[in-house]
Amino acid sequence: MAGYDVVIIGGGPGGYNAAIRAGQLGLKAACVEMRASLGGTCLNVGCIPSKSLLHASELFELAKDDFVKFGIDVTPQLNLPVMMKQKAESVGQLTKGVEFLFKKNKVEWIKGRGRLAGPGKVEVVAEDGTSSVLETRHVVIATGSEPSPLPGVTVDQQRIVDSTGALDLPETPGHLVVIGAGVIGLELGSVWRRLGAKVTVVEFLDRITPTVDAETAKTFQRSLTKQGITFRLDARVTGATIKNDGVDVTFEPVKGGEPETISADYVLLAIGRRPFTDGLGLDSVGLTTDRRGFIETNRARTAAEGVWAIGDVTYGPMLAHKAEDEAVACIETIAGRAGHVNYEVIPNVIYTFPEVATVGRTEEELKADGVAYKVGKFPFTANSRAKVNHEAEGFVKILADAQTDRILGVHMIGPDVSEMIGEYCVAMEFGGSSEDVARTSHPHPSRSEALRQAAMGVEGWTMQA
Ligand code: NAD
Repeated sequence: MAGYDVVIIGGGPGGYNAAIRAGQLGLKAACVEMRASLGGTCLNVGCIPSKSLLHASELFELAKDDFVKFGIDVTPQLNLPVMMKQKAESVGQLTKGVEFLFKKNKVEWIKGRGRLAGPGKVEVVAEDGTSSVLETRHVVIATGSEPSPLPGVTVDQQRIVDSTGALDLPETPGHLVVIGAGVIGLELGSVWRRLGAKVTVVEFLDRITPTVDAETAKTFQRSLTKQGITFRLDARVTGATIKNDGVDVTFEPVKGGEPETISADYVLLAIGRRPFTDGLGLDSVGLTTDRRGFIETNRARTAAEGVWAIGDVTYGPMLAHKAEDEAVACIETIAGRAGHVNYEVIPNVIYTFPEVATVGRTEEELKADGVAYKVGKFPFTANSRAKVNHEAEGFVKILADAQTDRILGVHMIGPDVSEMIGEYCVAMEFGGSSEDVARTSHPHPSRSEALRQAAMGVEGWTMQA
């Protein structure tokens, strides 16, 4: 069999972007993917279907509770099968889109499970059990991650589900217990609360979303609580037992005390994800994983010649766009170009209502590193567009270097901030200062004015009040 320049194992955002970039650069490339469709966790059972349900459930809630504020009286009825069907259709169109891009860029999709089989070799086992060996100059491992398990809580995808099961519940739960107040728990918890479930989130730490700037996370928790989500913080889940048509969840205070049991109709386990390297044949090229299962890399290079790793299997935030950036940089390096990823400017978004969008350093990180910084902050209550839309919750906060004014971090909570953080990503990528943004014209009236006003606030000349 003719050899490849690069074989990519995994067809998620890391793998498919690597494959397409390889095709664009004229490399002979193949992508090995065992799912029935390309796109990995993100397109099939992650970012995309969850955003579909977040949007649909937000519309439902707006119609139910908020249209009346605008003088529109309606009584919406939930049609869950149709909501699920439109989600599946969007997912289908997007995964087909990746397939189309493979064809357009002359990338081969080899269906089956790939594993390293010695230097320069990838074995692929197809669904029918037949196996073949591909010869290649480079291998890119992009096998992603899987939900972390919790002892005592066995996911059956019926009553106790992970993120995949929570996207396909057959009914709105009476009571949904979410284990873990991270991104997945809060996004999918929000979906089912909006559709009518009582939602209780049990979290090990004394705060929600541990990686988010503390002030932002506090405002976020207050908002979700107001919406009806109950938080049980400082609580260690010790077990979940399926009983007839429900689940008993037992947890105990982290700081000691009596255990408590609550009854749920469904339980969502969302305590993080771990790298997926099962059966990957790493030992055949002399590679191992670290204690937590990650493959060690330096600019995507592993310790084995010609073997690269990108995305969730290696270090850094487990985010699709981080995997995409690494994919492009890795392939460009393989092709002899200068691949580069700026890890200081990788945004993070939680697609709830309000949304949370952050990029760069948090105040806590800057304090810990002894960096002198200035803060500019602007609330959406003072933003005319947000106000007339009855969406005035939240704020924009800019952290800038006290000496140079360079933007170090941006933290936003509010309506549609996922669509606004990109402006600051560009500013930071260009090494911009808060004054650069403060002196840039923004359309009036628009929510994006809050970005400028927050930047003006760094030097104390915010104008809208
Ligand atoms: P996470 O790391 O965001 O949050 C997990 C939470 O569970 C943390 O708050 C943690 O303290 C808590 N926890 C851990 N063990 C616990 C226990 N035994 N009992 C109670 N709480 C416990 O993880 P996630 O929400 O599962 O998401 C996994 C990954 O997927 C993340 O890395 C995230 O970046 C990614 N993701 C991103 C998006 C997005 O960008 N919008 C959406 C979904 C998932």
